[in-house]
This record gives sequence, structure tokens and C-alpha cells, in this order.
Amino acid sequence: MLKYHSLSEEETAALLAELQAPSFRAGQLRDWVYGHKAASFDEMTNLPKGLRESLKDSLDLETPECADRTEADDGTCKYLLRLGDGALIECVYLPYSDRRSVCVSTQVGCAVGCAFCASCLNGFVRNLTCGEIVNQILFVERETGERISHVVFMGIGEPLHNIEQVTRACGVINKRLGISQRRITVSTSGIVSGIRRLADLQPEFTLALSLHSPFQEQRQQLIPIARRNTLEDIESACAYYFERTGRRITLEYLLLDGVNTSGEAAEALAGIARRLKAHVNLIPYNPVEGKPFRRPSGRTVSSFAAILGERGVPVTQRLERGSKKGAACGQLRNMSKP
Ligand code: SAH
Ligand code: SF4
Repeated sequence: MLKYHSLSEEETAALLAELQAPSFRAGQLRDWVYGHKAASFDEMTNLPKGLRESLKDSLDLETPECADRTEADDGTCKYLLRLGDGALIECVYLPYSDRRSVCVSTQVGCAVGCAFCASCLNGFVRNLTCGEIVNQILFVERETGERISHVVFMGIGEPLHNIEQVTRACGVINKRLGISQRRITVSTSGIVSGIRRLADLQPEFTLALSLHSPFQEQRQQLIPIARRNTLEDIESACAYYFERTGRRITLEYLLLDGVNTSGEAAEALAGIARRLKAHVNLIPYNPVEGKPFRRPSGRTVSSFAAILGERGVPVTQRLERGSKKGAACGQLRNMSKP
């Protein structure tokens, strides 16, 4: 069965021709899916019944089912979605005063296995398709009745292990949902070959790098793939990225109390950020059951931020959202296995 979100305009036209439908049906179909957020062909009332039936047999909209939802007091809402094959993923709706964001997953599980993250607890299962990624946003728009303005690829999975579907989804999000690429952020744990490949595609979205430690040895204890993707290689890949795209990357830095919060770490981080002309986003750790890490105090966070600021590094602190309900960064998990 063809996957609707993955089709080019020519492929959609070819399918309609094969079904002996006039070409203007393509525009109607697009309006239903991206405009009205239709979840099924049955809702597409201005398409003839016969055509709807044939579309059902040949085209997969990949609409997920909602298996659970958890809303936090701040309006953050985490959805557990069931995909066509029964796999479960999560996406999060984050309303702010000036924007409405969705945090999307890119894989079922994650193979990277970071020491602090819940998303990899059950291992890796499979990559998501372009449609399964786009559908997370359509689902949230349908559910909330709101238009999404920003998308962050910071849910379950490593986006650069699924580059093709992720870049394809960014294209659809941009072209069909009207969300500018500048309002999309893709976060990676630091896959050197992926950063270089992405640079060559010259995307316009923001690339965020999960650094978490400025020291090679410590970084590989936190992020196992850091062994093969050394800081030195990451730095040169990021420099290449900047050279090819002209876009500055963001460094994400998860603050783990007593682990990577020293003044020395802040100074070394400032060095990397300055060399890469990067902005740093500090993320106080959100606790994950069974993991030995703690969230630092507000004072630790501000003195760490102050050291970066004094060295001229632009720094922001991620607003905490939804952490009491397990909907915050790093608390999303792959529930496909018991
Ligand atoms: N796999 C990608 C994107 C998903 S994770 C990556 O690692 O970048 C998105 C962000 O959430 C990353 O910066 C990750 O380090 C962070 N994160 C993971 N576990 C977390 C936790 N328990 N608390 C806060 N942030 C966490
Ligand atoms: Fe995977 Fe990112 Fe979690 Fe690491 S932090 S296990 S790369 S989802």
C-alpha cells in the first residue's frame, strides 16, 4: 500500500489517474489531510464514495490511534500513540504564551542508549516513516484545535539514525503544514557521519547537538556512541555544518547534579561553544526511575550559566514543562514491549 505523506505530487497524480479520478481530486485530498486534519477517507465527504473506497485500498494515511493522554497543570499534554503495526510512541504538545510546539518522536525506541534517558530503556525497534512523524503534528492539531507553530525533534529516537524520513517529514511540515523550517529544531546525540550528510542536504532547520559533557571520557560514559563519535570529530563536523549551511547550531547541555556541573566543565563547554559560535541551552535533568542521576539546584544552574555568560556565550535555560507527569524531555519511553 502506498503511503500518502511520502508521495510526491506526481505520484499522487499518477495514482488518481490509475483510479480514473480527475486531477483536481489531488487538491481536495490534500485539503482534507493537511487543512481539515481528516483522520480517514470516510470524512472526505466531497469525494465520491467509490473513490473513497478505492483510496482506502491503495493509500495509507498512517493515522495513529490515541492509546493514552496525560495532561500536566501547565497545559503540556503527552500523548501515547499506537501506530499501524501496534508499536507505541509518544509526542508532546507544549503550549507557551507565544508559540505552540509539538515534540515528535522519530523512532520506536532508540539504539543510542544514553545513561540518563528513558527512551532507550526497551531498546530499538524500528524507524518511523515520514507519515508517522507528520501525523504526530496532525494528531495534536486535531486534538487541541490549535495550529502548531514550532516543531522539535526531541521525542523518542535519534533523528540522524533516520535521516531520510526525518528530512522528508521536515519538507512536508514546511510545505503542507506551513511551518517555516526556521521553527523546526532537530536534536542529535552527535552522529558525525549524520551531521556531515545533513550539512550536504543544506537544511534550513536548526540543528541542536546534545553535548552533555565537554570531556571525551565523561561524554562516552553518558552517551555510548560517543566512543566512535569523538568530541574532536563532532567539532569538525559542526564546523563543516556551519560552513555548508551558514546556520549556527545549538548545544544542549543536560545538567546532572555533581556529574557535569563543575566550574571546570562550564569553562570547557564555553571553549567549545565559542569555537563553534554556538548558543547553549541548559537542561536541568528530569528524573527517570531507576537512573542514578539527580537534578541540580537552581543555584548550581545559575552559577553554571553565569560562567558561560561571562565568557560571552549566549545561554538559555530550557523551561521546565510537564515533568511531574513524565512528559518532559528524556521521560518519554518506548512502550511497545511490556
Ligand atoms: N536523540 C536525540 C533527540 C531526542 S532526546 C538527542 O539525544 O539529542 C532530546 C533531548 O532530551 C536531548 O538533549 C536529551 O539529552 C534530553 N534528555 C534525555 N533524557 C533527559 C532527561 N531525563 N531529562 C532532561 N533531558 C533529557
Ligand atoms: Fe536516544 Fe536521545 Fe535518549 Fe540518547 S537522549 S537514548 S539519543 S533519545
